[in-house]
Amino acid sequence: MLNLNAALDVVREHQRKIPVKTVDIANELGIKVYKVPNWPSDLSGMVRKNPESRGGFDIFVNQDHPEVRRRFTIAHEIAHVILHPHLIGDGITDDALLRSGLSNSVEAQANRLAADILMPREKLNEFISNGVTSVAQLAKTFNVSEQSMAIRLGVPQ
Ligand SMILES: [Zn+2]
Repeated sequence: MLNLNAALDVVREHQRKIPVKTVDIANELGIKVYKVPNWPSDLSGMVRKNPESRGGFDIFVNQDHPEVRRRFTIAHEIAHVILHPHLIGDGITDDALLRSGLSNSVEAQANRLAADILMPREKLNEFISNGVTSVAQLAKTFNVSEQSMAIRLGVPQ
């Protein structure tokens, strides 16, 4: 099982370059990411126990979702593995709203870390102080949805 602080160090290392590469983070944590075709559109992702892998889990993501959405899903599943691997059991599936069988507070925690992974505050502030201030521009720079970026910046929608 992953050590929390070591895992967060890996995340930080990958946040030096924007946009953050979610699959690279997963791979460095010993987790493989698979894009799955022909999933129902209301299925976003899945994380499943894999005792053979170094990270202990595999991540699956809906191939038909747009890239920004896949990136958020992957970050969300990575967050599940980092924060509460013991709650995953043999596996969990996240629906379109990134809800699984886990509690709302656990899902909210995973969403928070996913946002932290994709939109590190330090880098955001750097871009903003360099004059990149529109939600659309920042969303493009960080390769996230405008909705995710607006939430991150606390912009009313
Ligand atoms: Zn989830």
